[in-house]
Amino acid sequence: MNIANNLSHIKKSIPNHVQIIAVSKTKTKDQILKIYNAGHRDFGENKIQEMRIKYDELPKDIKWHMIGHVQTNKVKYIARFISLIHAVDSIKLLKEINKQAIKNNINIRCLIQIKIAKEESKNGISKDKLNDLMCFSNNLKNINIVGLMGMATYTSNKDIINSEFKELSILFNNLKTSYPKLSVLSIGMSDDYLIAIKNGSNMIRVGSKIFGERKS
Ligand SMILES: *Cc1c(COP(=O)(O)O)cnc(C)c1O
Repeated sequence: MNIANNLSHIKKSIPNHVQIIAVSKTKTKDQILKIYNAGHRDFGENKIQEMRIKYDELPKDIKWHMIGHVQTNKVKYIARFISLIHAVDSIKLLKEINKQAIKNNINIRCLIQIKIAKEESKNGISKDKLNDLMCFSNNLKNINIVGLMGMATYTSNKDIINSEFKELSILFNNLKTSYPKLSVLSIGMSDDYLIAIKNGSNMIRVGSKIFGERKS
């Protein structure tokens, strides 16, 4: 298992415009450095505390992506350095991100997470709430919503995954007619990134295919 080779294999199998977020949750500093030293800069974490520690210990030109659910009271810990928050799912969270962005005198880039999976456990808002969230965000000067994110149902049935990604892709393209600046569609993980890219993904979040299986 060679981490740098894994990443370059994936890169070769996808179009150039698709950005790879290396999902480094539970992985060590040394494992992260293996691809950092090969030139990779975008890393994804799903826990605030773990990201903070890694931010402190690792090179400062890493672009950190928060891909997990964010509790409102924890935004303050990552606001000053976060590159993109993938899983915004409420007005309350948007307000807090904006507040922390103002405090730090920066703009924070966000994606809205849409619930496309049929399982109860997956986070995200339902499609019909999207317009409300987008309208509300127009008044938040320090937030920059750049696109949508989603996770497919956990299944080996590729037809289900394909139809869920397609649903989100259509929603994204429709939304772009009102918000032409939207540019990021973050769908696809280790087992389904090729299906996601077929459906218009331009940002994939890949963990185990790069770093190996996680134990926890
Ligand atoms: C863990 C995680 C990933 C990566 O999962 P892999 O199957 O290991 O590629 C992608 N997105 C989110 C939101 C995750 O929590």
